Amino acid sequence: MNEPLSFVQPTANSPWGTYLSQVDRVVPYLGHLARWAETLKRPKRTLIVDVPIEMDNGDVAHFEGYRVQHNLSRGPGKGGVRFHPEVTLEEVMALSAWMTVKCAAVNLPYGGAKGGIRVDPKRLSTKELERMTRRYTSEIGIIIGPQRDIPAPDVNTNGQIMAWMMDTYSMNTGTTATGVVTGKPIHLGGSLGRVKATGRGVFVTGREAARRLGLNLDGARIAVQGYGNVGSSAAELFGQAGGKLVAVQDHSGTIFNDKGLDIADLAAYVRDHGGVGGFQGAEPMHGEDFWDVRCDILIPAALEGQITAERAHRLKARMVLEGANGPTVSEADDILASRGVLVVPDVICNAGGVTVSYFEWVQDFSSFFWSEDEINLRLDKIMVDALKKIWDTADKHKITLRTATFAVACERILIAREERGLYP
Ligand code: GLU
Repeated sequence: MNEPLSFVQPTANSPWGTYLSQVDRVVPYLGHLARWAETLKRPKRTLIVDVPIEMDNGDVAHFEGYRVQHNLSRGPGKGGVRFHPEVTLEEVMALSAWMTVKCAAVNLPYGGAKGGIRVDPKRLSTKELERMTRRYTSEIGIIIGPQRDIPAPDVNTNGQIMAWMMDTYSMNTGTTATGVVTGKPIHLGGSLGRVKATGRGVFVTGREAARRLGLNLDGARIAVQGYGNVGSSAAELFGQAGGKLVAVQDHSGTIFNDKGLDIADLAAYVRDHGGVGGFQGAEPMHGEDFWDVRCDILIPAALEGQITAERAHRLKARMVLEGANGPTVSEADDILASRGVLVVPDVICNAGGVTVSYFEWVQDFSSFFWSEDEINLRLDKIMVDALKKIWDTADKHKITLRTATFAVACERILIAREERGLYP
């Protein structure tokens, strides 16, 4: 008998609702481990914290922060911290659960966790941002640590935020605990290749999927939603492989160029203007028309729930590479599958970031740092091997890559769960 969770009422297309339906789909492939499947639907530990800070004008402002440790069966919690005005507990729960699945899909010795603060960081000064980050770190300090739960960057957080988190945790514990967060600046124990790792992983999985579909990357039309760290790094690598970036959408606008826009010029423009809107080397386009653009590869690299059922009917892509977490709702997944559009799901497609986070954590512990080539080679191998196993599983059971990724990952998670047993 399972009592429902009392603190969240998911709707079908909400992030947690989407995740729960993804779990339901994998249960038939779990064999005797299905007995433990309910574990996946319950975060192990959920922390909500008040984050009060003094603003520059002397006012006191309060923000709500979260850290959810979804599952720790395979190792310490791992997952980013997001600063966004729409962050909710339910969203962080879903993101933490996807981290559990993602880490297991690439066989990293981690559980899954995620954190966030409901805030618009663009409205804070640098000093306010620092105070908020440090207070949040102190508040979640009771559950994080290099062997307990290791945060990292996510939407609107970066190396500087990680440096403040590392410093705050270190000051509070009286150690220099570089291994408490990943995605740090290089001279604070960060890893070469980490910043571009998520985008690189998207490229590697896309390259492998294209090979299987017989799609030539040279000349392939690419559309990207979200031009932050993940979207821009992936676009750059596809560009180097001969891909044509025909459409880009972000918070500042949607742009289109049928001949392919200049990726280096766009990178410089985004650096100066904070978004793609107004870029001269392309035409502006109505936001909703982005989903009708004729392309070979669509890369959603922004937020959850972007590919709705309605948009899934309209997409004109051969494959979708999920750089974002949770961009496709389950109904849309079914529509894309029936239309023959291949979806490389978030839980493998964007696993490059956490994979290099793992490399960073290992390097911090051994105090021995690897070259960028070594990191990129190891990343490539892990992603290619993981995707092959997932593809074989999909072929064997005739299931989507998403359900196959869940099958591979959930088997690993639930074997650990079963072998550890219930205590007490
Ligand atoms: N935020 C990233 C993700 O969603 C990276 C997490 C990490 O490196 O721990 O996968």
